[in-house]
Amino acid sequence: MPRTRIFLSMIALLFSSLACATLMGEDPYYDETYYSDEETEILTEEAPPQENDPGSPQSLTCPVVTDAILEAALTPGESETEEMDGEIYLVTYSVNGDELFDPYYEDVSADLEDEQMDESAHREIWDQFSSLIPAQHRSMIAEYSIFTDGADNVLAAVAQTQSDPSTWSLQVDIADISDPYNLTFTLIHEYGHLLTLGPDQVPPSLAIFNNPEDEDIYFQEASACPNYFPGEGCAEADSYIDDFYNEFWLDISEEWNQVNLEEDDDAYYEALDAFYAKYADQFVTDYAATNPEEDIAESWTFFVLSPEPEGNTIADQKILFFYQYPELVELRTEILKNVCVSLQ
Ligand SMILES: [Zn+2]
Repeated sequence: MPRTRIFLSMIALLFSSLACATLMGEDPYYDETYYSDEETEILTEEAPPQENDPGSPQSLTCPVVTDAILEAALTPGESETEEMDGEIYLVTYSVNGDELFDPYYEDVSADLEDEQMDESAHREIWDQFSSLIPAQHRSMIAEYSIFTDGADNVLAAVAQTQSDPSTWSLQVDIADISDPYNLTFTLIHEYGHLLTLGPDQVPPSLAIFNNPEDEDIYFQEASACPNYFPGEGCAEADSYIDDFYNEFWLDISEEWNQVNLEEDDDAYYEALDAFYAKYADQFVTDYAATNPEEDIAESWTFFVLSPEPEGNTIADQKILFFYQYPELVELRTEILKNVCVSLQ
């Protein structure tokens, strides 16, 4: 599956989250693409109401739907990839709660004007995202962009906004939205980045934000961080990603650093494939092996969409990891209910 990255000739550990940067360049940036050619019947089933606990969110699960979403994410497609020269941004909306306003239209070629002006399609995607993730849990989102890199490649991404590192943008490729299962998986995955890299978890480094190309500043900030350093800043000591890293990545980080030292793209992907193959039982997907940030986002998505694992692989433990946080168990219940309602 095609991925793009910018190689930064620095210590790989320090640049962990920049390793999946896309062609647009400067900002830490996370991307995900999934393909599926399969059609799956959708059914929903409602769990019995919890009569003894009227205060809890109503539990609603739809295993046929969630299994289909996970299967779509795990199934490589065979669709033709339409290569374009990186992402082309079409329009960026400001976001306030559920509302989109003040669209900024980029200059684009005439063949992209239809997609650029298709406001109802833009709003439909936003409505899907905003109906999945409760508003109070996505207050860090200040912008929503529509871009395209042609069919496939990057489906969606998140990045710090250019004006304020404590706010983020959600970005979706309008050419990749036709499969509701892939889109749902990817939106939950992207939210996993916001959940684990947002300003409450990883207070952003202004020095890095204001000097994105300055390797010395990056090195200083990373060196001064006693906790996990995802790139945007120093993770809080009790943050999800710091806990996750300490629990699951300490043993493999040295080997993973070697992968990231590969400068040539082909050699990098070959080394990453070998790293994944060696530790496949540690990751919920192959893409999760990319770095700790992708790993926690993928594991989060499986936490939301899978039943509680009964096995004891490290991949299972990564899903079980989230059950130690009551606020995430509650959020899972809410998102799952919204998935079932939106895809039934
Ligand atoms: Zn990602």
